[in-house]
Amino acid sequence: RNTLMWFRNDLRLQDNKALYEASMRSKVGAKYLIALYIVSEEEWKEHDEAPVKIDFWMRNLVSLKAKLDKIAIPLVVKTAKRKTDVVGVVESVVREFDISHVFWSQELMVDEKRRDKAVKNALQKIKVHVEECEDQYIVNPLNVRTKTGNPYAVFTPFYNTWCKLVETEPHHLRLTEAPDANPHEAKDLFARYFKATIPSSHPHGLDVETINNLYPAGEDEAHLRLNAFLKTKVKNYRVSRNIPIPEGTSVMSPYLNAGVISTRQCVVMARAANKNKITTGDEDIKSWIKELGWREFYRNILVSFPRVCMNRAFQLKTEKLQWSNNDEHFQRWCEGKTGFPIVDAGMRQLNSIGYMHNRLRMVTACFLAKDLLIDWHKGERYFMQRLIDGDLASNNGGWQWSASTGTDAQPYFRVFNPLLQSQRFDPKGDYIRRWVPELQGLTDKQIHDPYHILDAKEFAKLGYPKPVVDHAKARDKFVNEFKRVLALA
Ligand code: FAD
Repeated sequence: RNTLMWFRNDLRLQDNKALYEASMRSKVGAKYLIALYIVSEEEWKEHDEAPVKIDFWMRNLVSLKAKLDKIAIPLVVKTAKRKTDVVGVVESVVREFDISHVFWSQELMVDEKRRDKAVKNALQKIKVHVEECEDQYIVNPLNVRTKTGNPYAVFTPFYNTWCKLVETEPHHLRLTEAPDANPHEAKDLFARYFKATIPSSHPHGLDVETINNLYPAGEDEAHLRLNAFLKTKVKNYRVSRNIPIPEGTSVMSPYLNAGVISTRQCVVMARAANKNKITTGDEDIKSWIKELGWREFYRNILVSFPRVCMNRAFQLKTEKLQWSNNDEHFQRWCEGKTGFPIVDAGMRQLNSIGYMHNRLRMVTACFLAKDLLIDWHKGERYFMQRLIDGDLASNNGGWQWSASTGTDAQPYFRVFNPLLQSQRFDPKGDYIRRWVPELQGLTDKQIHDPYHILDAKEFAKLGYPKPVVDHAKARDKFVNEFKRVLALA
């Protein structure tokens, strides 16, 4: 009988535990290794997956298929019309290919866990063995605990413990090998699957060519990117990571979230560039590894506090905040027409290329929650619907941090001043000029705050909106509302 590897968000051959285990199993006890991917549009829709992200995943699937073809492993792509059809689809593949063992990489979200449980139950009933491999984090969150055995809710102590475990228990950074090839005759036996094409999906409304150039698909591309970053940009990362133009960060997130490369591979490579250390040595490399630590931290939160998967605030008391229902304000934020140039530049970058620099994610998120007093859930959802790197754990973590409702959140009274953020992180206005063409002709000084600097006539000529709120007043309103809620607790 044969073995099945079900790919989900782990579209890579290297350092993929489930794939490696499946390959080992097929070597000892089975004839062939078959790979499966299920296209489930209803599930994507329900999880607000962005078209640009789905397009990226499908392009990576094409690239994965080409790699699997070379080692004679057929990739079978099936469609599940409704998400409840997934169980039946896996079952039918198992029967069609006479499968005895199914492998997959465990997912962390509540819905996916439920789905996997249902599939597992169905397969066990027909005597098919299921192997779920832990591969979505470097250290299992259940092992990163406080002295009293509780999960961490604050980043720094979490990260200290995490680093200690990574440094003292070498297995955490052990990479698994790529799978072995199937016997050659598999090519003939499964010929129609080798010939099959992957369904394509277009990032609606976005320029396909630009998107393809910005984010070429494939495992090789992810490694090229990582290597290039570690050779060049990382050298000044501590400073440049906050500057949106020129981009000083790695832009590895789309690849990490599609599982085209693992967090472990990133840490291993970065550590190798730092004499195999993660807490001492080069400050810039350490700082980049720490960002990957944030990714691990938010995965820990998802596992330890699953309520965050179900639209709950991490700090439950903040659920009493009275948000504004101003649809016009929300619309203006979405479209990048708030009249705050730095906020608008961020939102327009997101709308144009499905990505936004981290500093801008913080500024725009804080602006929605604290200046417009609009429920952060709405922003979280809008980001997911647009981001090529949309990831429930990091997106939710970032939003709750920005809205001061989460773990380790920035205190509620710390409200980013968009003008100061703009002057500090985009001092010459290059980023604003790139994304807000109406303001291209302004001087470095005018561009951050045209409404207050230009006279009314000059401002009207720009065709740029007036600020949607007065920042100082909005800030006070938010802080007072937060105080009111804290007093209730
Ligand atoms: P780099 O600076 O090169 O960092 C390397 C990697 O570290 C990133 O690829 C990412 O995996 C991880 N990382 C860096 N910063 C963070 C962080 N603050 N939290 C968690 N992981 C981090 N990240 C996502 O991957 N998906 C999201 O949906 C997402 N939504 C966000 C929403 C908000 C409101 C905020 C404030 C942040 C969000 N982030 C999200 C985190 C961060 O903005 C992105 O990971 C980062 O911008 C990706 O760019 P990069 O790969 O160049 O990062």
